[in-house]
Amino acid sequence: MSSIKTPNNLPDHMSGHIPTDMSGQIPDHIKGQLIEVVTEKRYLDRKEELACYAYDAFLVESMPQAVIFPETPEEVSQILKIASLHKIPVTGRGAGTSVCGAPVPVRHGIVLCFSKMDKIIEVNTRDRYIIVEPGVINADVQKALAPFGFFYPPDPGSMATATIGGNIAQNAGGPRCLKYGVTMDYVLGMEVVLATGEMVTFGSKNVKDVTGYKLSSLFCGSEGTLGLVTRAILRVVPQPEAIKTLMVTFKNLDDTANAVSDIIGSGILPAAMELMDKFTLNAIEDSFGLGLDREAEGSLLIEIDGVKEACEKEMGRITDKLRENNALHIQESASDADREKLWTARRSAYGVFAKMAPDIISEDVTVPVSCVPEMIRQIKRIGKSHGLRVGVLAHAGDGNMHPMIPADKSNAEEWARVEKAFDEIFAAAADLGGTLSGEHGIGLAKARYLPLVMNKDSINLMTRIKQAIDPQGILNPGKFV
Ligand SMILES: Cc1cc2nc3c(=O)[nH]c(=O)nc-3n(C[C@H](O)[C@H](O)[C@H](O)COP(=O)(O)OP(=O)(O)OC[C@H]3O[C@@H](n4cnc5c(N)ncnc54)[C@H](O)[C@@H]3O)c2cc1C
Repeated sequence: MSSIKTPNNLPDHMSGHIPTDMSGQIPDHIKGQLIEVVTEKRYLDRKEELACYAYDAFLVESMPQAVIFPETPEEVSQILKIASLHKIPVTGRGAGTSVCGAPVPVRHGIVLCFSKMDKIIEVNTRDRYIIVEPGVINADVQKALAPFGFFYPPDPGSMATATIGGNIAQNAGGPRCLKYGVTMDYVLGMEVVLATGEMVTFGSKNVKDVTGYKLSSLFCGSEGTLGLVTRAILRVVPQPEAIKTLMVTFKNLDDTANAVSDIIGSGILPAAMELMDKFTLNAIEDSFGLGLDREAEGSLLIEIDGVKEACEKEMGRITDKLRENNALHIQESASDADREKLWTARRSAYGVFAKMAPDIISEDVTVPVSCVPEMIRQIKRIGKSHGLRVGVLAHAGDGNMHPMIPADKSNAEEWARVEKAFDEIFAAAADLGGTLSGEHGIGLAKARYLPLVMNKDSINLMTRIKQAIDPQGILNPGKFV
């Protein structure tokens, strides 16, 4: 079996680790043991089936040797026991929407896909939690909570498809994480299966729980390298009484970014503040025809929520700041349907960019919010200096920026420029006291940039944690640790 396909001319850090073992078939006697656990129906190993689990929304592909669909934590445990005994790598998979190569099985082995563990086990709004299996889709959690007047704040753009297990493993964020915080802030507890097959639980149903190490936080963002989440207890919150949504345009990008920095700096906390440059705005307008101002160099989608009177007051303060920063046009959504249209368009930005070229890289640099104007200037300057089209889309209120470059990786010359541009963008973010990722994670995409933001001892500490919990390196090997 040809086991790995790396894109043409992909530089080292985007090619992942070239696998050195486990590229053939899983031996029959081990396959037999695995099938005994899950039955033949939930065990795939035909090449055309495996190919569907060889990639995510990043650039690297690598074939697994088997894909298994567990239905219970006990099955996950048994599979991991077998895998550990035979030293077979196991990579968890939710919906495969990661944009950093996190679920790509670069050392082959087994992909454990959680799509059949998709039950909502308990909704308890009285005690404000929901218990779910890892394969539950984020949007289904929202749907389950809505009739009770509650919601689950983490709202990645991929929420219609991404799973809670994937969200936890990537510590996913989203637009309203500006006010509400990221996935880690909502995981009260979890059940995890370790590489050995041991089933452990951390945390509880209690909002306050200081019982030992906060291991659920360690597992959030660990990209499936420490254990596989089989159940999660998530904190939920009441829906706000009122929501107001503004679409604001500016003549230049500096004013747009300065408005963000001013609003946050003055102590106002909108639920979301999304920045789009002209390139992004026009790409969205081409696809959605919302009547957005194509001439505006920058725009902000701002959402405020809370008690009605407080929203009115905040709206007034925000409008003042927008005017001080020369906003051209400030428009409030007239209805829930209008508001939903704007958000659907915003969430589709990645897909809109993906139509522009055979490949797209969307990165995730994050800087202190006062540095947003400078970071955007740097991104634009770097893109221009390498002759590349760069769209800037940002959860700007928390400094989380997604520079997006549509390009063609089969064009070696262009791809080298893309590479260089991202090297410079990451270096610029680090210089501003920023970091490599606000929400997408490290995976294969950013592992080589870690020394820009962490010293050697800090990286070694992560490696030691990995070695302590998974000494054989069974879980998602070849990633950032
Ligand atoms: C259009 C688009 C928009 C996006 N917008 C956002 C955004 O706004 N914010 C954001 O944070 N991300 C965003 N993402 C990235 C991605 O959707 C998130 O990282 C998401 O959390 C991945 O979930 P998934 O179910 O697809 O996981 P996968 O991609 O399948 O896996 C991601 C990681 O989780 C691990 N994993 C999966 N299930 C488990 C489990 N049960 N236990 C342990 N590890 C597990 C995998 O091994 C892998 O390392 C976007 C992606 C796309 C394509």
